[in-house]
Amino acid sequence: MGEKRRVLWVWVFLGLVLSPGIRAQSAPPASGTLFQFALFEALLSGNFDGRMPIAELQRHGDFGIGAFDRLGGELILLDGKLYQAKADGKVYQPSPQALTPYAFACRFAGGAAREIPNGTTMESLQGLLDQAAANPHLFYAFRVSGFFNKVRTRTVPEQSRPYTSLLEAVKGQVVAEFDRVPGTLLGFRCPPYVQGINYPGYHFHFISEDRQKGGHLFACEMESGQVRIMTMSRYELALPEDPTAFQNVQYGKDRMQEMRRILSDRK
Ligand SMILES: [Zn+2]
Repeated sequence: MGEKRRVLWVWVFLGLVLSPGIRAQSAPPASGTLFQFALFEALLSGNFDGRMPIAELQRHGDFGIGAFDRLGGELILLDGKLYQAKADGKVYQPSPQALTPYAFACRFAGGAAREIPNGTTMESLQGLLDQAAANPHLFYAFRVSGFFNKVRTRTVPEQSRPYTSLLEAVKGQVVAEFDRVPGTLLGFRCPPYVQGINYPGYHFHFISEDRQKGGHLFACEMESGQVRIMTMSRYELALPEDPTAFQNVQYGKDRMQEMRRILSDRK
């Protein structure tokens, strides 16, 4: 690392709050907050140095996903506990001082559990969630618990300087497949207008019930399970103050295709 890290950041409140008049009569109040540290755009451009202690992320939520310093592992925050799924295939409990370059979290308060049909894949799960989380303008968190016939995940090995782009870095990803495993998917869906700040679409991480296996989710097939859904109408963005955290960032470029390639196993 060798770089002086500052743990100062500025707070940007985008204040996406529904006016009471807009709320549908049948929908529950949408009052959850998605907290996010740093820009996905900056991570895409190779800013992999961690700049916020993960203990700070825990102060903003008990349910979240993200990356670790130098991309050394996939971040999973579940029931307030942090896990680091590393490219050696193991899941670690990182120290609270460990740093993240990019992560997001919420205080999960999902509604009633909905059953997930046998044979549900990641694609059909997204179709199901499109219907159940029907407002495309809001943020959602999804907690999917169940028994998985198959899970396909990836982890990225820790990077060293000089960093490449994220698309280059994930070419060295380690893909793992797990059969017949109970576990949890931690999912988020961001609306289309966040492009550059976060990924507009679904993003899932997986961790097994025994907390021994995990990573960024590429594919799955479920035998049985349930999902709980949380709506979020507030978005709180914390940014690193150090200008070096935004190297090579080019705003305004359409990077949807690049992001899809990074988050899926279609490289
Ligand atoms: Zn991920």
